[in-house]
Amino acid sequence: MEKIKKELLITIGEKRLGHSIRVMTEAKKLSKYYDVDEEKVAMAGLLHDCARYEDKAQLLKESEEFGIISDKLYTGNVNLLHAPLGAEVAKKKFNISDIDILNAIRYHTTGRENMSMLEKIVYIADYIEPKRDFEGIEYVRNICYEEKDLDKALISSIDNTIKFIIEKNLIIHVDTIKARNFLLYYK
Ligand code: FE
Ligand code: FE
Repeated sequence: MEKIKKELLITIGEKRLGHSIRVMTEAKKLSKYYDVDEEKVAMAGLLHDCARYEDKAQLLKESEEFGIISDKLYTGNVNLLHAPLGAEVAKKKFNISDIDILNAIRYHTTGRENMSMLEKIVYIADYIEPKRDFEGIEYVRNICYEEKDLDKALISSIDNTIKFIIEKNLIIHVDTIKARNFLLYYK
Protein backbone atom coordinates (compact mmCIF):
# COMPACT_ATOMS: atom_id res chain seq x y z
CA MET A 1 0.00 0.00 0.00
CA GLU A 2 2.73 2.49 0.95
CA LYS A 3 4.64 1.69 -2.23
CA ILE A 4 1.51 2.30 -4.27
CA LYS A 5 0.89 5.63 -2.53
CA LYS A 6 4.44 6.76 -3.30
CA GLU A 7 4.03 5.86 -6.94
CA LEU A 8 0.64 7.60 -7.14
CA LEU A 9 2.10 10.75 -5.61
CA ILE A 10 4.46 10.95 -8.57
CA THR A 11 1.92 10.21 -11.30
CA ILE A 12 -1.30 11.88 -10.12
CA GLY A 13 -0.01 14.38 -7.55
CA GLU A 14 -0.80 15.24 -3.97
CA LYS A 15 -4.36 16.50 -4.42
CA ARG A 16 -5.56 13.44 -6.34
CA LEU A 17 -3.73 11.13 -3.98
CA GLY A 18 -5.52 12.78 -1.06
CA HIS A 19 -8.83 12.17 -2.82
CA SER A 20 -7.87 8.55 -3.56
CA ILE A 21 -7.02 7.88 0.08
CA ARG A 22 -10.34 9.41 1.17
CA VAL A 23 -12.17 7.18 -1.33
CA MET A 24 -10.29 4.17 0.04
CA THR A 25 -11.30 5.07 3.60
CA GLU A 26 -14.92 5.69 2.61
CA ALA A 27 -15.03 2.40 0.70
CA LYS A 28 -13.69 0.53 3.73
CA LYS A 29 -16.33 2.19 5.89
CA LEU A 30 -19.05 1.16 3.42
CA SER A 31 -17.71 -2.40 3.35
CA LYS A 32 -18.73 -2.75 7.00
CA TYR A 33 -22.35 -2.12 6.00
CA TYR A 34 -22.46 -4.23 2.88
CA ASP A 35 -21.28 -7.68 2.03
CA VAL A 36 -17.99 -7.05 0.26
CA ASP A 37 -14.32 -7.85 0.80
CA GLU A 38 -12.65 -5.02 2.74
CA GLU A 39 -9.17 -5.52 1.30
CA LYS A 40 -10.49 -5.51 -2.23
CA VAL A 41 -12.51 -2.32 -1.80
CA ALA A 42 -9.49 -0.66 -0.18
CA MET A 43 -7.26 -1.52 -3.12
CA ALA A 44 -9.85 -0.51 -5.71
CA GLY A 45 -10.54 2.74 -3.85
CA LEU A 46 -6.88 3.67 -3.65
CA LEU A 47 -6.24 2.88 -7.30
CA HIS A 48 -9.50 4.10 -8.88
CA ASP A 49 -7.94 7.35 -10.16
CA CYS A 50 -4.46 5.94 -10.87
CA ALA A 51 -4.62 7.25 -14.45
CA ARG A 52 -6.05 10.64 -13.63
CA TYR A 53 -2.88 12.35 -14.80
CA GLU A 54 -2.67 16.09 -14.69
CA ASP A 55 -0.89 15.88 -18.01
CA LYS A 56 -3.67 15.39 -20.57
CA ALA A 57 -1.14 14.62 -23.29
CA GLN A 58 0.11 11.65 -21.30
CA LEU A 59 -3.44 10.50 -20.72
CA LEU A 60 -4.13 10.53 -24.44
CA LYS A 61 -0.80 8.95 -25.31
CA GLU A 62 -1.21 6.04 -22.91
CA SER A 63 -4.83 5.55 -23.91
CA GLU A 64 -3.74 5.23 -27.49
CA GLU A 65 -1.06 2.73 -26.52
CA PHE A 66 -3.67 0.61 -24.79
CA GLY A 67 -6.03 0.96 -27.73
CA ILE A 68 -8.86 2.59 -25.84
CA ILE A 69 -8.81 5.91 -27.60
CA SER A 70 -10.87 4.65 -30.54
CA ASP A 71 -14.16 5.01 -28.66
CA LYS A 72 -15.58 8.34 -29.71
CA LEU A 73 -17.57 8.59 -26.49
CA TYR A 74 -14.25 8.85 -24.69
CA THR A 75 -12.43 11.15 -27.07
CA GLY A 76 -15.46 13.43 -26.89
CA ASN A 77 -15.05 13.66 -23.15
CA VAL A 78 -11.44 13.21 -22.04
CA ASN A 79 -12.54 13.11 -18.40
CA LEU A 80 -14.05 9.69 -18.92
CA LEU A 81 -10.81 8.23 -20.25
CA HIS A 82 -8.99 7.93 -16.94
CA ALA A 83 -11.29 5.11 -15.81
CA PRO A 84 -10.69 2.51 -18.56
CA LEU A 85 -7.06 3.59 -18.74
CA GLY A 86 -6.84 3.23 -14.96
CA ALA A 87 -7.86 -0.42 -15.20
CA GLU A 88 -5.02 -1.04 -17.68
CA VAL A 89 -2.51 0.85 -15.56
CA ALA A 90 -3.60 -1.02 -12.41
CA LYS A 91 -3.04 -4.29 -14.24
CA LYS A 92 0.30 -3.49 -15.85
CA LYS A 93 1.92 -1.17 -13.37
CA PHE A 94 0.43 -2.23 -10.06
CA ASN A 95 0.09 -5.93 -10.90
CA ILE A 96 -3.59 -6.16 -10.06
CA SER A 97 -5.07 -9.31 -11.55
CA ASP A 98 -8.40 -9.45 -9.69
CA ILE A 99 -11.04 -8.83 -12.36
CA ASP A 100 -13.54 -7.37 -9.88
CA ILE A 101 -11.01 -4.75 -8.72
CA LEU A 102 -10.11 -3.93 -12.32
CA ASN A 103 -13.78 -3.55 -13.25
CA ALA A 104 -14.42 -1.32 -10.23
CA ILE A 105 -11.70 0.98 -11.58
CA ARG A 106 -12.88 0.68 -15.19
CA TYR A 107 -16.49 1.60 -14.42
CA HIS A 108 -16.08 4.05 -11.53
CA THR A 109 -16.99 7.08 -13.68
CA THR A 110 -19.74 5.76 -15.94
CA GLY A 111 -21.16 2.87 -13.98
CA ARG A 112 -22.60 0.03 -16.04
CA GLU A 113 -25.34 -2.53 -16.26
CA ASN A 114 -25.40 -5.16 -13.51
CA MET A 115 -22.58 -3.77 -11.38
CA SER A 116 -20.94 -5.98 -8.76
CA MET A 117 -21.07 -5.00 -5.10
CA LEU A 118 -17.42 -3.91 -5.28
CA GLU A 119 -18.11 -1.72 -8.32
CA LYS A 120 -21.05 -0.08 -6.58
CA ILE A 121 -19.07 0.61 -3.40
CA VAL A 122 -16.20 2.28 -5.29
CA TYR A 123 -18.62 4.32 -7.40
CA ILE A 124 -20.46 5.59 -4.33
CA ALA A 125 -17.32 6.10 -2.22
CA ASP A 126 -15.94 8.30 -5.00
CA TYR A 127 -19.18 10.25 -4.90
CA ILE A 128 -19.56 10.74 -1.14
CA GLU A 129 -15.98 10.91 0.22
CA PRO A 130 -15.81 13.49 3.06
CA LYS A 131 -14.54 16.42 0.98
CA ARG A 132 -17.35 16.17 -1.54
CA ASP A 133 -19.79 18.93 -0.90
CA PHE A 134 -22.77 19.64 -3.12
CA GLU A 135 -26.52 19.75 -2.97
CA GLY A 136 -28.12 16.45 -2.14
CA ILE A 137 -24.96 14.75 -0.91
CA GLU A 138 -26.16 14.35 2.67
CA TYR A 139 -29.24 12.66 1.29
CA VAL A 140 -27.08 10.11 -0.52
CA ARG A 141 -24.85 9.56 2.53
CA ASN A 142 -27.97 8.97 4.56
CA ILE A 143 -29.30 6.37 2.13
CA CYS A 144 -25.96 4.54 2.32
CA TYR A 145 -25.54 4.48 6.07
CA GLU A 146 -29.00 4.86 7.56
CA GLU A 147 -31.34 3.30 5.05
CA LYS A 148 -28.61 0.91 3.94
CA ASP A 149 -29.96 0.89 0.41
CA LEU A 150 -26.94 1.03 -1.87
CA ASP A 151 -28.95 0.75 -5.09
CA LYS A 152 -31.14 3.68 -4.12
CA ALA A 153 -28.02 5.71 -3.36
CA LEU A 154 -26.61 4.73 -6.72
CA ILE A 155 -29.72 5.82 -8.62
CA SER A 156 -29.70 9.14 -6.82
CA SER A 157 -26.04 9.80 -7.60
CA ILE A 158 -26.46 8.76 -11.23
CA ASP A 159 -29.44 11.11 -11.52
CA ASN A 160 -27.39 13.98 -10.12
CA THR A 161 -24.51 13.14 -12.42
CA ILE A 162 -26.75 13.07 -15.50
CA LYS A 163 -28.26 16.44 -14.56
CA PHE A 164 -24.77 17.85 -14.15
CA ILE A 165 -23.65 16.41 -17.50
CA ILE A 166 -26.62 17.97 -19.28
CA GLU A 167 -26.00 21.35 -17.66
CA LYS A 168 -22.38 21.23 -18.83
CA ASN A 169 -23.47 20.09 -22.28
CA LEU A 170 -21.25 17.02 -22.07
CA ILE A 171 -21.72 13.56 -23.52
CA ILE A 172 -23.66 10.99 -21.48
CA HIS A 173 -21.91 7.67 -21.77
CA VAL A 174 -24.23 4.82 -22.75
CA ASP A 175 -23.06 2.77 -19.77
CA THR A 176 -24.42 5.42 -17.40
CA ILE A 177 -27.87 5.15 -18.94
CA LYS A 178 -27.66 1.36 -18.88
CA ALA A 179 -26.61 1.43 -15.23
CA ARG A 180 -29.61 3.57 -14.32
CA ASN A 181 -32.12 1.56 -16.36
CA PHE A 182 -30.83 -1.65 -14.88
CA LEU A 183 -31.16 -0.41 -11.31
CA LEU A 184 -34.65 0.92 -11.95
CA TYR A 185 -36.20 -1.91 -13.95
CA TYR A 186 -34.16 -5.03 -14.48
CA LYS A 187 -32.70 -5.79 -11.13
FE1 FE B 1 -12.19 9.23 -11.29
FE1 FE C 1 -12.19 9.85 -8.03
